[in-house]
Amino acid sequence: MSVEDFASKARVFLEANAERKEVKKKFTWGEGTDNVSMFEERSRDAEMEMLSKAKEWQGKRFDNGFGWITGPTEYGGAGLSNAHERAYNQVEREYRTAPLGVFQIGLGMVAPTILAHASDVAKEKYIRAMWRADIVGCQLFSEPGAGSDLASVQAKAERDGDEWLITGQKVWTSGAQFSDIGEIICRTDPSLPKHKGLTGFIVDMRAPGVEIRPLRQMTGGASFNEVFFNEVRVRDDHRLGEVNNGWNVALTTLMNERASIGSSDGGENNMYTRLLAMIRHYELDKDPIVRDMLADLYINTRVAGFTSQRATDKMRAGQLPGPEMSIGKMALVDNQKRMNDLVAHVLGAKLVVDTGEWGTYAWSQLLLGAPGMRIAGGSDEVMRNIVGERVLGLPKDVGIDSKSAFRDIKVGTQKD
Ligand SMILES: Cc1cc2nc3c(=O)[nH]c(=O)nc-3n(C[C@H](O)[C@H](O)[C@H](O)COP(=O)(O)OP(=O)(O)OC[C@H]3O[C@@H](n4cnc5c(N)ncnc54)[C@H](O)[C@@H]3O)c2cc1C
Repeated sequence: MSVEDFASKARVFLEANAERKEVKKKFTWGEGTDNVSMFEERSRDAEMEMLSKAKEWQGKRFDNGFGWITGPTEYGGAGLSNAHERAYNQVEREYRTAPLGVFQIGLGMVAPTILAHASDVAKEKYIRAMWRADIVGCQLFSEPGAGSDLASVQAKAERDGDEWLITGQKVWTSGAQFSDIGEIICRTDPSLPKHKGLTGFIVDMRAPGVEIRPLRQMTGGASFNEVFFNEVRVRDDHRLGEVNNGWNVALTTLMNERASIGSSDGGENNMYTRLLAMIRHYELDKDPIVRDMLADLYINTRVAGFTSQRATDKMRAGQLPGPEMSIGKMALVDNQKRMNDLVAHVLGAKLVVDTGEWGTYAWSQLLLGAPGMRIAGGSDEVMRNIVGERVLGLPKDVGIDSKSAFRDIKVGTQKD
């Protein structure tokens, strides 16, 4: 089907199933909500309501052939091109639809990993169901002693006939509270070097022995969790990849994670509209320092967008993306900092004291949420290490012991 025909079909579907947005009124300072938070700060009830609307919309899109446009037909995808997907997205933007960010980890990271590494049984069971939003997935990688140094995970999986028993603790699990399944990386052989004795699994988040505890962040919400596993049973056909090949499984997920974070342009257009309105409201639009900061932000955001586009295009063309993703991710957080510095420069003390004035204190939510993005998906320092090693050819990070048995390594002190 041609892209034009597909776009027309999309319009018919959207006309029948969604409300068209009214012609956008010009943004007026002081009108509407002034919320600019980075993380969801909803109550659990509001979160469940949002999830149910998101599931309903994604399910409808999927059943009509618009939920997974570029996916293989074997698993319910439409088997069409990126151009078809872009055309659909462009048409959908004209309609009011439920936000689908809640599926970012499941569909952006976990589902591609299942597609690449799972058994046929697990692919049949989960891929279509995830894309239809019947099932939500989360990423169970980080542990108290394994974040940047992910290969140090200690949660263990021990074989028991046709099953595995998982015991250990994960942390910072986004969305665990509403997830049905999780992709977990466990240690299966501590006698091997740390990158070698790991295995990936798909775990049922509602299985006996799984306990999810919320973590409250400084912005007030609780988007993350600690997840405890106490002898949780997982069938062997829910293993991802070969036994002790979990590092490659994790890399598939991380590659998709960096691509999805880095490809954001660091600020929606309406954020610029809002920034500009704020600058004009305070009559700073002729101020040379403010103008300089705004131009700097705009230029850097555009350049970062092109870099991320290169990585995304490479992945979609079936090639392995290079360090563009790490550069894109670093640029994204740098640009967030640029934006926050500009907001702080304009608002000054209004940012730290709630005077009730519209559009002032609300920015503090964004500023307090932004540091999290310096850490999520690989911290700034780790991204710099990647660029240093892969682009500049600098020597490898000294902290990686890739030879000793994991059980002989004192975590945190290893040297090559
Ligand atoms: C918003 C957000 C969402 C997240 N969601 C998830 C999720 O859904 N699932 C999940 O599994 N995890 C999740 N995480 C966890 C995230 O992956 C980890 O926080 C991250 O990998 C860093 O690990 P850490 O917090 O243990 O910090 P550490 O690795 O302990 O790092 C501490 C500091 O040391 C620096 N550092 C570490 N190693 C090096 C090095 N070799 N060279 C130089 N500096 C170094 C780091 O840059 C950092 O400044 C999330 C985190 C955030 C912030």
